[in-house]
Amino acid sequence: MDHARPVSEPDILLVIGAHREELAFGDRVAETLEVLSDIPPFSVLRIPEGLSGRHPRSDEVYRTDVQHRELYHQIKAEVGSRRLVIDLHRGFDDHGPCADIFSGDDQLLRTIQNQIDDQGTDTKARALSSVRCIQIDHSERNQDRAMISAYTRIPREVWDAPSFRFVGLEVYIPTSDDGRQTDWVFAADLLKTIMQTV
Ligand SMILES: [Zn+2]
Repeated sequence: MDHARPVSEPDILLVIGAHREELAFGDRVAETLEVLSDIPPFSVLRIPEGLSGRHPRSDEVYRTDVQHRELYHQIKAEVGSRRLVIDLHRGFDDHGPCADIFSGDDQLLRTIQNQIDDQGTDTKARALSSVRCIQIDHSERNQDRAMISAYTRIPREVWDAPSFRFVGLEVYIPTSDDGRQTDWVFAADLLKTIMQTV
């Protein structure tokens, strides 16, 4: 994560590979996104050796928590003056591609949801109807689902930062590999929608 930053950096930072098993998927999505039209300028923070997305054994929990916190502090240090950070993840769902969008900013989530709802009635829009917007909070009811509770492990100074907005995007695909073109296009379209809120 020690790459040079241009003098004038884009407002948007896309983070890929926070979980190392998901890095190749992130690469494909970023490549797909770069050739879409009307994309606001963005930079990619590619984490070459991310965390393991595997569920930790009980004796690994403490170390995993520390590594997780350290990684997100490093990500925060990379944000600079940017206004939006999108943290891309890949999950598995038989009926995918589908997605969850996480943010601590309910206003931002409503804006994203409205944009998704406004996409019309074409095929892409039907795929986008399988997107859920989920607010990050620390209440008990969110603890029963692995991904949501994982997101609550992101330090509050990252997801609730005063100087930038943080969005987690988990795209669920129907294979456990790096996905297919349809998955990458689905993810890239969704990123475009999120990026256009800036
Ligand atoms: Zn992940």
